[in-house]
Amino acid sequence: MLDLVFGYSQKWRFQFNTAKSKVVVFRRGSKLAKNDVFFMGLDELDIVDSIKYLGVDFQSNLSWKSTKDRLAKKARARLAIVRKAMMEGISLEAAENLWSTLIRPVLEFGGEVWGAGAWQAAEQIQREVGSKLLGMSSHAADEAVRGDAGWWSMRARRDFARLRFWHKIVNLPEDRLLKRVYNVFKATLKPDHSSWIFATRKILENLNLGHVWRSEETGSAKEWGALVRTCLHANEVLAWKAGMQKKSKLRLYRSLKMDLRREEYLALPLEQRSGIAGMRSGTNSLRVETGRWRGEALENRICMLCGTGAVEDETHFLISCDIYSELRHQMYSQIEEATGLRFQVRQGDSQWILNASLGGGIGDKSTRAVIHGVVARFIRAALKQRRKLLSFFNQLNREEREKELDSTFLLVGRGGEADDS
Ligand SMILES: [Zn+2]
Repeated sequence: MLDLVFGYSQKWRFQFNTAKSKVVVFRRGSKLAKNDVFFMGLDELDIVDSIKYLGVDFQSNLSWKSTKDRLAKKARARLAIVRKAMMEGISLEAAENLWSTLIRPVLEFGGEVWGAGAWQAAEQIQREVGSKLLGMSSHAADEAVRGDAGWWSMRARRDFARLRFWHKIVNLPEDRLLKRVYNVFKATLKPDHSSWIFATRKILENLNLGHVWRSEETGSAKEWGALVRTCLHANEVLAWKAGMQKKSKLRLYRSLKMDLRREEYLALPLEQRSGIAGMRSGTNSLRVETGRWRGEALENRICMLCGTGAVEDETHFLISCDIYSELRHQMYSQIEEATGLRFQVRQGDSQWILNASLGGGIGDKSTRAVIHGVVARFIRAALKQRRKLLSFFNQLNREEREKELDSTFLLVGRGGEADDS
């Protein structure tokens, strides 16, 4: 083969730069044989483990690791742009645009080709950006971040791109080289996870589209895109719901959130959506969460402020804790004034209140926007009051403890004197 190429170059009187020409021997595991040497004319060519071509690293062991590592590093380097823009008060839409035009494409470069299967680093980067955008803590669960932003996993996005690419291949004229190669590999397909065609078939089968794999009756590109999108979305929702069930901090979230769809409260300014996001996702400073970090039993994570012995969870904080009754009363009156809805009389129905204030909400879009805004202000004010009271109590406790220490010291001192006498 190389001799043919060399002959061609002689015929047309040009020279290959043999110093820049490399050989990659694609193989699985086994070492290169000593007699594996390649000549271009009289020059021996270097054998390398990987070569970058069209922005993708082709590794001799058929792994895409080095491509992925390089892309993740490049995407990470760009995260600072989003962070800086967020600090400067950029809108959510603009920040999301930065993500989808500047960072995400880096992680998806050539993903149709190398992207089958899980890739945690990409999911992690998406989660970091999402939690920043939503104003959630960096500890927020992936399901809560993607759920409220209405985002698919990065894996599903790569699958989508791959299946569109597959549509292109199977609809090529039969004499095109790519189509001919595809047909040969399809006819001789063996179960092999590093095979592009095998992985593509698996993805189609998982989406219950195995019959299209065989028939290749895909319809137009538009129809195919719509079909794949629907199937992938259904799969994503299932996986997302299953993931939610496993996480205890998503206790409230599970009852509020049914659909992988962008939430309306995200239209609020950052400091407001952050409060709502924190309550919804269970990633907040309430004891039900901080106690979990410290390993306290759930029933021991009680509210330190009201003395009722109730567990300090989101429901207690928003609906029942007496410490915030004045703020809560204000919140309810503001809502009633603006929307005519009377939350006060539904006080006993906590699921209704939670859903109306943090969940899908009630009424029309503008009503929900008003309620979200008022609730977000309540959360901010109540959390502030809570911090103040807690630090006050901590201070008291500390003084108390110090007094106790003093008196023990005194007792010990007197005891000693008594012994002496
Ligand atoms: Zn309380």
